[in-house]
Amino acid sequence: MSSKRTYRRGDSGPAVAEIRSKLAVLGLIPDEEPPGGPLTATFDDVTDRAVRAFQQGHGMRVDGVVGPATYHALDEARWRLGDRIVFYVPARLMAGDDVAALQQRLLDMGFDCGRVDGLFGVETEQSLREFQRNVGVVADGTCGPATFKALNQLTRTVVGGTPHAMRESEAINRAGPTLAGKLVIVDPGHGGADHGVAGDVLDEDDLMYDLASRVEGRLTATGSSAFLTRGPDRPNRSSGAAPSEAERAGFANAAGADLLISLHVEAHANPGASGVATYFYGNDRYGHHSAIGLRFAGLVQREICARTDLVDLRSHPLSWDLLRRTRMPAVRIETGYLTNPGDAARLVDPAFRDVLAEAVVAAVQRLYLPPDQDAETGFLRIPELRV
Ligand SMILES: [Zn+2]
Repeated sequence: MSSKRTYRRGDSGPAVAEIRSKLAVLGLIPDEEPPGGPLTATFDDVTDRAVRAFQQGHGMRVDGVVGPATYHALDEARWRLGDRIVFYVPARLMAGDDVAALQQRLLDMGFDCGRVDGLFGVETEQSLREFQRNVGVVADGTCGPATFKALNQLTRTVVGGTPHAMRESEAINRAGPTLAGKLVIVDPGHGGADHGVAGDVLDEDDLMYDLASRVEGRLTATGSSAFLTRGPDRPNRSSGAAPSEAERAGFANAAGADLLISLHVEAHANPGASGVATYFYGNDRYGHHSAIGLRFAGLVQREICARTDLVDLRSHPLSWDLLRRTRMPAVRIETGYLTNPGDAARLVDPAFRDVLAEAVVAAVQRLYLPPDQDAETGFLRIPELRV
C-alpha cells in the first residue's frame, strides 16, 4: 500500500470531482455536474462501481480505491490514437491508451514493437520507423498526422500476432540450461520509511529484505549474479523514501537483468484470508501478457506450494508499474498474509523463509531447463542445480 492520498467511497471534494470527470470521459458514469459544483462532488456508489469496472478492465487490483496507480491509469485512458503526437522521450516515456492502440496496430501489421504496454519505449520507436519506411512516410519515429493517415489507410491484415511472446521464448532457449552468468534482480518490497504491512514481530519490509538476502545467497551459489533493489534500511529505518516501482524497474532495465523477482506479503481486514499468489505482466484490456512471465510465475507458484502448506491462490496477470515497466520477465510474489495468524507464524520463522528461498531459486533454474531435463516439481534441490 502507498502512503500517498487515496480516494474511496464516502470521500468528497475537488479531487473526487476530477476523478468523476475522468470516469465520465470514459463513459463509465453519466457526465453531470453535482449540485453546488465540484466542491460537493461525492465518491458515491456509482463512482465506486465505475472505478471497479475501470480497474477490472485495466488489469489492476479491483478494490474501488483510487490511489496513485489507478489515478495514473485513469489519466492515461483518456488518450485516443490521433489525439496527440506521440514519440520517444527517453527519461519520461509517454504513456496512454493511444500508445497501446499504436502498438497493437504495429503488431497486427507484423512490426515487432515488443509488448502492448501503452508505453512509448525504444522498441515502439524502432518498429514505428520501420513501419514509416515501409509506407513511405518520413521515418522520424514520431507518430504525427502523416503517420496517423497512413495507419488509417491500412486495413488490418493480420490479427492477434504475438511476435513478442515468441521472441521471449527464443531468448530463454538460447540462454541454455544454466544459471551461470544470469543476472537476477531481487526486489524486497517497501523500505525506508515505508514498512509495508505491519506485523507483530517483523514488518513486511524487514521480512522481505531477509527473504531477498536468502534468495540472493542461493542464486550466487549457482554462479549467477543477483542484485537487490534496496538495502536493509537499518539502523535508522524511520528516514528516507523507498524507491518507487518505476525506479525499481528502471534499475533492473539499466542493469540489463534477465529476470526480476519482487517480494511482498499481503494484508486483509479479514484475518481468515491466507495463502500465496504470484503475478506477472498482463493487461486484459490490451489483450496481452508476458509469455515467459506467465510461465515463470506458474513455476514459482508450483514450487512454493509443493514445498509449503500455504494455500494456493494461483498466478494472475496484473499491470502494476513494476511488472509493466520491466523489460525482462518479472514476477511479484505475495508470500502470504501477514494478517493471518497461520501465515504470519510461518513467515517469521527463518527456516520457513529458507524453504521459500529454495522454492524461488528452483523455479528460476526450471525456467532455463529444457522441458526434457526438468525435474519433478518440489524435488529439485540446490546441489543438483547446474552451474
Ligand atoms: Zn507490499
